[in-house]
Formats: sequence, C-alpha cells, structure tokens
Amino acid sequence: MKAMMIIPVFIAHMGCGNACVFCNQRHISGHSEVPTVEAIKRQVDDYIASGSAETVGIAFYGGSFTGLDSAMQVQYLSLAASYKKMGIIQHIRLSTRPDYIDEIVLNRLKAYHVDLVELGVQSFSDDVLKASNRGHNANAIYRSIGMLKENGIDFGIQLMFGLPNDSRERFLFSVRETIRLAPKTVRIYPTLVLKDTDLANDYQNGYYQPPELETAVDIVATAYAMLMRAGVNVIRVGLQATDLIDFNGAVMAGPYHPAFKELVLDRLVRRIFYRFAEKTKHLSEWVTNGECFESSSETASEIFDETIGTTARKSTVKTVWTVTVHPDLIPHIRGHKHQNLNQLTERFGVKAIHIERCEHCDKTVLRISNGNTFEIYRLYDEEVKTCI
Ligand code: SF4
Repeated sequence: MKAMMIIPVFIAHMGCGNACVFCNQRHISGHSEVPTVEAIKRQVDDYIASGSAETVGIAFYGGSFTGLDSAMQVQYLSLAASYKKMGIIQHIRLSTRPDYIDEIVLNRLKAYHVDLVELGVQSFSDDVLKASNRGHNANAIYRSIGMLKENGIDFGIQLMFGLPNDSRERFLFSVRETIRLAPKTVRIYPTLVLKDTDLANDYQNGYYQPPELETAVDIVATAYAMLMRAGVNVIRVGLQATDLIDFNGAVMAGPYHPAFKELVLDRLVRRIFYRFAEKTKHLSEWVTNGECFESSSETASEIFDETIGTTARKSTVKTVWTVTVHPDLIPHIRGHKHQNLNQLTERFGVKAIHIERCEHCDKTVLRISNGNTFEIYRLYDEEVKTCI
C-alpha cells in the first residue's frame, strides 16, 4: 500500500476557546497567522506540483477546526472539497476537540466529504482530563466517537502520556479503550512543558513534574506494542523536530527527543533480548572479576530489573549471538548510541552479536541464536517460537 501524501494546513489555536494546561499552539505548529483561502490554495498547488503520490490528502491541523466560525469552516472545506471533486486530492481530514462534535457539525462534515476527524482525546481518565483543564470529561469522548461512527465518518485518536494526574495504569487504560473503540489512526505524544502555559507555571512552582525520558520511552513502548498487536494504525509516536519550534526555546522540560519513536523501537528490541537472555539462562554461569559462580534466582531477578544500570556487572562470559533481521531493524539491534549492545554486554555478558541482514524477512521479526538455542520473536508479540 502506497503512503498517502498529506498536505498539512495549520490553523494554530483557531477555533478553540479553551486553555488546556499543556497547550501553546503557536509553539507547537510554528504558525500563528490565520491562513487565507488563497494562501491554502497556493500551498496545495505547490505541494501537488512537487509530489507524485497516488493518494493526496488535505489535513487541517493545529486548532479545533469544528470550533471555527461556521463561515470560515465552509470556506476551507469548500476549497478542499473542490480539489477532491476534481480528483486532485482524494482525502480530507481535520483535527478537533471531542466536545466540538454535534449534529450541525456532522452535517457540515458530510456535506463537504470529510473523510477523517482526528480527536484530541489525550486521556480516557476523568481525573487526568480535569487536571489538564480539558473542559470536558470522558463521556464527551465516547459520545463524539459514537456520533462519528453512526454517520460513517472515520476518526483518529490522539493520546498523551504524562499529563497531570496521569499514571502508567491510567495511560494503559486509555490505550485499551482506544483499541476497543477501533480508530482509523492513533498518535501518541509524551507531555512536554512548553513556555507560556499553565503547566509551565505548575512546573516552576513544583506542582508538576514531567516524566523522565526513560519512563516515557518505556511506557510508550508498551502502548505502541499493544496498539500494533491489535492492528491499529499508529501514525505518529512522539513529536518530531518539524512539529516543534524547540529552537526558539519553547520546550522548558519533559521527555522530548528528536528520535523518540526510534527509542521506542530500540526498547522493544531490548525487551526481546532480555527475554532471550532469560530463556537461555546466561546467568547460570558467568564470570565476574575472574571468578565463576552460579547466579541465584534473587540475583537474576535483580539483574533483569528494567531499571537501567542499577545492578549491572561486568562479565567475561564468551557468549556470541547471531541475530537475523531485515535491514530496517539493524539500527534497533544496536540501539541509540549502542545502548542495546552495551546493556547486553554489561548485564548479560554477551560478548558479541553477529547481525545477519535478511532482505526478504518480515520487518518485525527477529531470529536469535546463541549456537544452542534458536528463537523467533515478533517485535510486538509476546509469543515466541523456539527451535532447538
Ligand atoms: S483543545 Fe487543543 S487547541 Fe484548545 S487549548 Fe486544548 S490543546 Fe490547545
């Protein structure tokens, strides 16, 4: 399936009368001007002239589209619908708040052939929504999704991890609810503290502490694997440099990393390595400072503790693994700054990994062998195939 080329039209903070604690749309989108219809037309024409994708879509992002003045919505949608009628684009999507969907809005979306509405859900926890000043509760989310489904309009869900009052359990509950509701697309963003927001004040006054990058990567990796296992189309994990004008110093704190999704994939590969190490019982025999000893189960569980670096010991066990993967997975075998390889060496005594490139392999499959045991793992699955 060929990827769709999306032409993004930013309508920063337009249409929204709310002030979510984390929101500073001018920084997020990097655009603060109201786009005129003529400007959008020029943008679309330029994109189309420069691209060759089979499927092209226009996306109105950044604010709450369905909260815009209705005449403005009609202007924007008329333009998009005219391109769609001419066959120049095939898809129209927009983003909005869950509580800005009603019968009038739905009729307008259908009249202009809108294909997908991305809802800024953020969380299904009322406690999190309230503490984030979202201005609506979880019922508003269920209601809007129900209306979109009844009217045959696809919907996407955007989730945020690390909002005020959020926790691992609450975030994973939101992920499970997302899977149950079966959206067409999902985006996951870690919460960042942006300048000129209520969250920035709370952070400076000590009332809010953003999650550490390690924590955010770990939990988002779990969420991403759950969604992928369920067949959900996750179109974004983490903010990218192009989304964020961090060069202007907009980000005060929080788990921002320009390659956040790559870190998430590294973590999923690392978890597979840990499972293989455990299964093949490297720890039954290892050498520290020249001494041999059997590891107790207590020691083993300490070593397998996910907290990085807490119980790491140098080992000189001569263990060599062979990992066969599609070339796309090779960077994640090593991990960012070779972290995965370093962890394996320091914690499990793996001396070397031979990486075998497999062009025809599935991009989510890892075949691992230590010479005695051969196992096949899928990046998002918990099932393992063992061939001895
Ligand atoms: S609803 Fe969206 S645009 Fe409005 S304040 Fe919240 S995050 Fe910002």
